[in-house]
Amino acid sequence: MHRFSLVPSLLLAAGTALAQVPAAQPIKESKPTPPIAIKSFDLSAIDKTADPCTDFYQYACGNWVKENPIPADQVRWARSFSLLQERNRYLLWQELDAAAANPKNPLEKKYGDYFAACMNTPLVEQKGVTPLQPSLQRITILKDSHGLAPLVGALAAEGSVAPLFRFGVGQDDKDSSKEIAQISQAGLSLPDRDYYLVDNKRFQEIRKQYVEHLTKMFILAGDTAEQAANEAASVVKIETALAKASMPRTEMRVPENVYHIYSVADFQKLAPDFDFATYFKDVKVGHFETLNVATPNFFKALNELIASEPVDAWKSYLRWHTIHTSANNLPKAFFDENFAFFGATLSGQKEPAPRWKQCTAMTDGALGEAVGQDWVKNHFPPAAKDSMDKLVAALEKSLGDDIKTLPWMSDATKQAAEEKLAMIRNKIGYPEKWRDYKALKVSRDDLIGNMRRTAVFARNWNLGHLGKPVNEKEWGMTPPTVNAYYNSSLNDINFPAGILQPPFFDFKIDPAVNFGGIGVVIGHEMTHGFDDAGSKYDGKGNLREWQTAEDRKAFTERTDCEADEYSGFEAAPAHDGIAGQNLNGKLTLGENTADNGGLRIAYMALLDTLAAEGKTINDKIDGYTEAQRYFIGFAQVWCQNQTEQTSRQLALTDPHSPGRWRTNGSVQNFDEFGKAFNCKKGQPMYPVKSCRVW
Ligand SMILES: [Zn+2]
Repeated sequence: MHRFSLVPSLLLAAGTALAQVPAAQPIKESKPTPPIAIKSFDLSAIDKTADPCTDFYQYACGNWVKENPIPADQVRWARSFSLLQERNRYLLWQELDAAAANPKNPLEKKYGDYFAACMNTPLVEQKGVTPLQPSLQRITILKDSHGLAPLVGALAAEGSVAPLFRFGVGQDDKDSSKEIAQISQAGLSLPDRDYYLVDNKRFQEIRKQYVEHLTKMFILAGDTAEQAANEAASVVKIETALAKASMPRTEMRVPENVYHIYSVADFQKLAPDFDFATYFKDVKVGHFETLNVATPNFFKALNELIASEPVDAWKSYLRWHTIHTSANNLPKAFFDENFAFFGATLSGQKEPAPRWKQCTAMTDGALGEAVGQDWVKNHFPPAAKDSMDKLVAALEKSLGDDIKTLPWMSDATKQAAEEKLAMIRNKIGYPEKWRDYKALKVSRDDLIGNMRRTAVFARNWNLGHLGKPVNEKEWGMTPPTVNAYYNSSLNDINFPAGILQPPFFDFKIDPAVNFGGIGVVIGHEMTHGFDDAGSKYDGKGNLREWQTAEDRKAFTERTDCEADEYSGFEAAPAHDGIAGQNLNGKLTLGENTADNGGLRIAYMALLDTLAAEGKTINDKIDGYTEAQRYFIGFAQVWCQNQTEQTSRQLALTDPHSPGRWRTNGSVQNFDEFGKAFNCKKGQPMYPVKSCRVW
């Protein structure tokens, strides 16, 4: 998210969205080709040899999974998300390519130039590491640990790198009307603290390869082999210490764990050896007297590390992060080495993506609300917005009905839940008011400079919120994004234009398939307001208990049931002495709760809609009842293949379960599924005992 929101609830991991596609500078540039049409309901994806009551994912997706291996430039290939992302990216590329060649107005000139600078790899090659030299020079002259804060501040101020911690402005968890300063742990390069700390064969091997990668990058930057080896060792030592000091992800998900209001003076006492006053002045944040320190222990540990590590080790750490941050936009030798470790080794990607994909994603990330203006004009019909309003209203009614009938909840809590539901705001398609990019200077021949100015622009925009009234109309995703989110501080659900397209949302298909697609997505986002984290905020977005103590206890028993259930699902099998890996039910609890709730309430909304049209859930189309089409449509959103490395990485870092378990976990907890497919009670997808929260 654009704001300093600690844990926004997305529909799928941001890492799989458009802006995160690994980059490429291949020797032979592939030409963009128009994407294929995506079927909303795909009979050919079904594996008829599978029993839907035993493994519904295999039934609904088996043939698709078999026939659609992961393309070489991807780590995950999903029938709905990836194909729609490819389509949206292609349409965006057409716009950028045209604007780069022949801009029709100043805004097109700006994003056209940004894209053109990114595509100009011969110039990148010619410049070498020169664009980084001023930053590297600053680091070289660091004298002692007192200089660390001014140096980190100067590097952040110029937009080159922001290591060690995250600082920004966001809504106060306990008073959502206030925009306050917030600071949290950061500073690692590997995907999670476990990569540094867990002692098993797989992580030992990755750590060895990480050291090799660091060494190679330092050599590319001009070190001798001996210097590079020393620098690499220092980086690993500091990052490992930061990993130890970092709060684990599952704990970060608990809102109370990351809420600690400090006065600036008391915060400074946590880390007296890092002069935060200088840092705050360097990044030009306005005056504030208190801030939220998400992870106080991390800052205490940081202080110990500043005292114990020699100044040369800090130089190595900052040098590394400066090079690493820009690696995709440096000459090919840097790019290739970066890809070899972070793409191939860590994620199992075979080939880098073509440059046009990377530059399209980068431009969307930097100037999304500029590019998005034309994109929605061309690709988002106003009728889609009206239809979405109707669908959202239908889902709201279902969730209200669902709350009213919950057997375990007291009337007082039901009323509070309904009040919160009534206060959820909907944002559909794109912002009413577009962001103003006047202050962002773009140069057609300065890629690294553009990236840095973008980082500074984004930070200034964020820090500019300090002390101002909350602007509830701002968006945290760009219009072409294939994703959606719930924001607990604003209590709003957000659906970018990019996802309001087939196969999620199709004017031409029967309601069962649309409710299984976009209907479940809407229900998922609404349910986030009531998952284990979201339920701790009230309708105004304040962290405040609104359940009775007894109801909270009953709620937690139900979420525990789901956490245990999903912890039993396998993310990657054991082989060759590498242990198998299961999902972490606590990490994925919020998303699983949202998936389960979404499937149930979208089904209820479908029943209402069919009844209003004089139809029933047992009517058949193409041999399937409406109920069966609903569940198949839902499952086919999640058909996917992904590399084993990515499965293992995401099992540690992604709060979302993989497609197989998003499907099977949800249907096995919903009896209407077993009935729709005439399963026998006790079969895997129609168990005697199941979990239900909402
Ligand atoms: Zn979600």
